Parts: sequence; C-alpha cells; structure tokens
Amino acid sequence: MILMQDIYKTYKNGVTALNGININIDQGEFVYIVGPSGAGKSTFIKLMYREEKPSKGKIIIGEKDLSDLKEKHVPFLRRDIGVIFQDFKLLPKLTAYENVAFALEVIEESPKVIRKQVMDVLEMVGLKNKARMIPSELSGGEQQRVSIARAIVNKPRIVIADEPTGNLDPETSWGIMELFEEINDRGTTIIMATHSKDIVDRKKKRVIAFEDGVIARDEQRGDYGYEV
Ligand code: ADP
Ligand code: ADP
Repeated sequence: MILMQDIYKTYKNGVTALNGININIDQGEFVYIVGPSGAGKSTFIKLMYREEKPSKGKIIIGEKDLSDLKEKHVPFLRRDIGVIFQDFKLLPKLTAYENVAFALEVIEESPKVIRKQVMDVLEMVGLKNKARMIPSELSGGEQQRVSIARAIVNKPRIVIADEPTGNLDPETSWGIMELFEEINDRGTTIIMATHSKDIVDRKKKRVIAFEDGVIARDEQRGDYGYEV
C-alpha cells in the first residue's frame, strides 16, 4: 500500500512542484500518472523511492513511514521498489546479465541464487540468449527489457516507471506494456508516468492526472484526457 497525505514539495530554488497531494494506492493496482510537462509527475515518483524528500506531509510505502526512515535504511526501501527510467540507466560496460546481477550482488546473495534468479528473469523478459551482450549491442526495446529485469529481479512489491516507453517506437512500446501487465498479473503494484495517449486509452487502468502540482483527476479505468 502506498499512501501520501498532504504532500508539498518545494525545491531549493523556490519552485513548488507538488502543492497538496493526497493519494492511496492498493497493493496490486496498475496506475498511470499523466499530465503536462512540469506538472509534478517526476517529483511524485521520486518521493516514493526517496530520491527526493517532501517539504511537508506523510508518505507510507508498504509498512514504512518514510518520515521515520533513516538514511542507512534507504537501501531496504529500494529493495521493495523497482524503478525504471525512460533512458534505461544501464551500466554501459556491463553485459545484460551483469547489469541485472548487480542488483543482487549489492545485497550479498549467494552466486548460485544470483545465477538462477538472473537467468530466470532474463528469460521472462525474452533476453536469455542476449545475456552476454552489452547495452550498445542491444536495441532500445531490448535495453528497456534489461532495465525491467533489473528492476524486478529482487521481486519488489512495487514497480515505478517514469516514461518507460518515451524513447521507443510504438510497436516496441506495446511489447514493453505486455511485460508490465505480466508483472502486474503476479500481484506487483505498477505506477507508470506516461505521455502515451495511445497506451493509456487502449489499456484502461486507473489514471491519476497531475496539473500544476495538484491532482486534477483520479479515475478508475480513466482516459489520457489531453490532446497530443
Ligand atoms: P513532470 O515530471 O510532470 O514534468 P517535474 O516533477 O519534473 O514534473 O517538475 C515539476 C516542477 O518542478 C517543474 O517546474 C520543474 O522544473 C521543477 N523541478 C523538478 N525537479 C527540480 C529540481 N531538482 N530542482 C528544482 N526544480 C525542479
Ligand atoms: P525527467 O527525467 O522526468 O525529465 P528530470 O529531473 O531530469 O526528470 O527533470 C524534470 C524537470 O525538472 C525538467 O523540466 C528539468 O528541466 C527540471 N529540473 C531538473 N532538475 C532541475 C534543477 N536542478 N533546477 C531546475 N529545474 C530542474
């Protein structure tokens, strides 16, 4: 469960990105975050995995109240949340396998467990036979699949994606969306910021629209709601 209560975020330069956000997301939901550029979507996402802290308000992720979370416990929070970015953020010199394994090595899993989990997850995303390739040898869609594999290899309860299909062509994007639905079918909460009207309108889910730092709409089976 994700809860935000009366959340405000003003950056150091004085820009207020979030201006009173209240939200409740249940385990297993699939939620699109939409809205114009600068509306606060990325800030909202960054608060969930503690890339940013709110200026005011309460955030609960799972059973954790983030206002009580000590810095040294942030890695534990991140284990429960897989994050996926528009630009993949893969380590360029590591193979697909190593990029995914890295997430487990930092938590000191045994080599045997790592090997099994990494190969299982690469198979799930359809990249078992490209495990030895480095990012520059893979297409954009394949790189995004590696980053999804990295995000889910720890079996997090929540996956957050900030415009995951923003750099991909429509056909590749649909393949990535199928993968997100498969992950969601296993009970994982998915929160996805997107500018794709096509995807939001065709795969009806909960839609939360941000405008000027507030929630303008929150609808079950909603629409994208903006002209493109
Ligand atoms: P969106 O993801 O909807 O485009 P953002 O959350 O990125 O919106 O940005 C909301 C507002 O906060 C914008 O005015 C943006 O310029 C500002 N902003 C975002 N990040 C920072 C930052 N690190 N420092 C200062 N202002 C920021
Ligand atoms: P995204 O990957 O969603 O673009 P960023 O954090 O890179 O997220 O930037 C989001 C918005 O916030 C952009 O409009 C960017 O110009 C603005 N922004 C980011 N960092 C700063 C900053 N330090 N000061 C002012 N604006 C910022």
